[in-house]
Amino acid sequence: MIVLGVESSCDETGLALYDTERGLLSHALHSQVAMHEEYGGVVPELASRDHIRRALPLLEQVLAKAGLPKERIDAIAYTQGPGLAGALLVGSSVACSLALALDKPVLGVHHLEGHLLSPLLASERPEFPFIALLVSGGHTQLMRVDGVGRYTLLGETLDDAAGEAFDKSAKLLGLGYPGGPAISRLAEFGDPEAYKLPRPMLHSKDFNFSFSGLKTAVLTVVRNSGSEIANICEQDKANIARGFVDAIVDVLTAKCISALKHTGLKRLVIAGGVGANRQLRESLNAAAAKKKFKVYYPELEFCTDNGAMIAFAGALRLERNPAAATHDYSFNVRPRWPLDEIEPA
Ligand code: ATP
Ligand code: MG
Ligand code: FE
Repeated sequence: MIVLGVESSCDETGLALYDTERGLLSHALHSQVAMHEEYGGVVPELASRDHIRRALPLLEQVLAKAGLPKERIDAIAYTQGPGLAGALLVGSSVACSLALALDKPVLGVHHLEGHLLSPLLASERPEFPFIALLVSGGHTQLMRVDGVGRYTLLGETLDDAAGEAFDKSAKLLGLGYPGGPAISRLAEFGDPEAYKLPRPMLHSKDFNFSFSGLKTAVLTVVRNSGSEIANICEQDKANIARGFVDAIVDVLTAKCISALKHTGLKRLVIAGGVGANRQLRESLNAAAAKKKFKVYYPELEFCTDNGAMIAFAGALRLERNPAAATHDYSFNVRPRWPLDEIEPA
């Protein structure tokens, strides 16, 4: 069965073809980062318009790369939510109109389920059950995953998401948008002893997080060191970046370890954009070697938003239940959609 996946929840248009027999056939992505950069964040209306521009050329690309005519698509999976309403509407209307034209069924996929299952696209696939740390631009959640659609939330952030903390702290250091990768690179040159920033909720004895205080700590350090970011020397900026990255990585690592301990599970899966972070991977790999658990990551290109994870999540659901897809093409998006309200597959 060949499933077309369509992702458009935020600022990436992603399309992909996944074959349940042969695996991922092709994928294509357009990131709008450059367009939103000058505004310092995603502008929803611009995002929707750009998805409209990109969707069909990307569809042609994935078909050409896979060497298939569109009639070979068996089902279409699209991101139904959560995300920006206008952006989601573009993906769902593309998916539903194409499905109507081809007389194929459609399936709305939960964006976070896409992230969560994306490590199963890698060559080293974890088996169920496992603990998942979802660290993206909008979410930070620890989950117990017993199967497709069988997710138990153990804890989550009470305020900012990890990716958001990376982006906001990077902005305070004058690093542009989205600043996650930039602050991570800068931190490589920083002195770990220069700034010890707080580790929020490290000892809270639950699986929740809080990162807004960490961002405020970065702001305070910036203010104390030179009043304006332009007056702070590169080395000091790197030291602050290092202080920030060490703090957030420590908290994420410690909470993963305690979730594994609490559940007795030995497999940890990382998903979402912050899962691409080098320091986080190093810290988790070291903990895994020491505490004898295994840690799995998505391929780097599938950490942030992409169509492959949506095609894949759709395919896994359809394999388990072909009736999950419908010929009802009236699309309804769900901009707010908690993951624990999802149906088991
Ligand atoms: P959500 O999936 O919660 O709706 P999103 O789709 O915007 O949010 P993702 O695409 O999964 O989030 O991830 C984007 C986030 O990942 C951004 O905040 C970005 O800064 C962060 N990020 C990407 N690469 C890195 C990195 N190497 N280090 C730290 N953060 C990173
Ligand atoms: Mg994005
Ligand atoms: Fe995402």
